[in-house]
Amino acid sequence: MNKDYDLVVIGAGPAGMTAGMYGVRSGLETLVVEKGISGGLSNEAPEIENYPGFKKVSGMELGERMKEHVSEYVEIKELEKVERIILNDNGKRAEVFTEKGSYATKSVLMSTGTRHRKSGAKGEDGFLGRGVSYCATCDGFFFKGKSVIVVGGGDSAVREALHLQKIGCGVTVIHRRDKLRAEPYLQRKLEEAGVSIIWDSEVKAIKGDDMVRSVVTYNKKTEVETELTVNGVFMSIGEEPNNELAAQIGVALDKNGYIITDKSQRTNIERVYAAGDITGGIRQVVVACAEGATAALSAYDDLQGI
Ligand code: NAP
Repeated sequence: MNKDYDLVVIGAGPAGMTAGMYGVRSGLETLVVEKGISGGLSNEAPEIENYPGFKKVSGMELGERMKEHVSEYVEIKELEKVERIILNDNGKRAEVFTEKGSYATKSVLMSTGTRHRKSGAKGEDGFLGRGVSYCATCDGFFFKGKSVIVVGGGDSAVREALHLQKIGCGVTVIHRRDKLRAEPYLQRKLEEAGVSIIWDSEVKAIKGDDMVRSVVTYNKKTEVETELTVNGVFMSIGEEPNNELAAQIGVALDKNGYIITDKSQRTNIERVYAAGDITGGIRQVVVACAEGATAALSAYDDLQGI
């Protein structure tokens, strides 16, 4: 017979893993279900330097350490995608359906995170895995000694550019404005590293044969198109929320598609909570962990006496 859970957490990034641990420690029968491997998008961070207690740690190592720690409390089912949620009994019970089975629960936490935004440049999809990548930590190694561009001007783009340069790539950043969005500390590091930046420009097309050979950029100020010879294109232009499950059950989303919560991580639906990047706002590992802990404790409060 299937177990009856108090809390099912969907997504094992830093938010979901922390929630799982806090859930179990509060006495809730808790399960974490993850479609891939634990750690979420932060696994891709080449270096994290602002998670207290770790001066410098790769996203992958931090994720592995978190998993090892929280697994002492909570079961994480990896490689199991949640496909559907059905709310029963006026939302007081839910059935979480995955590709492998289903889990009955009294509450649900959405910590489904975000995915990489696509630029829409011609050739972006076609050259995926053949020169186009969304993860310098994962794929950078293949471009050692080669020319690559990083598209974007945020923290991720700068981090990726620094990582790629460190491992021996010739790196150029292409940004659509004349000012980076990345935190000043990272901007300084990029300048010190001597990475060149092409400003006010977008990538219009990615060209090649079996592999990427060049990109066509368009300068929005001069309206000039330029073809650059490159071997790799790292897209780092932000993220989009994985909100499909939330939308399916009527969880309220903001205008950008992120889940709206109160300070206790409660959504508009009773006993449905959200934590981590899926709630938008400040997307940092430390914030995701805090939201995960808060959400689990809110579930505990709400389930008291039931
Ligand atoms: P982001 O901050 O949203 O930056 C996305 C960048 O891509 C922006 O510079 C944006 O340009 C550009 N962009 C967006 N759409 C584009 C398009 N269609 N074509 C070309 N360029 C486009 O995303 P992120 O850098 O992935 O960061 C996401 C969150 O994670 C942020 O909250 C960030 O602080 C956090 N993060 C933190 C660290 C850290 O070390 N502290 C590391 C990584 C990420 P505009 O500037 O013109 O909008």
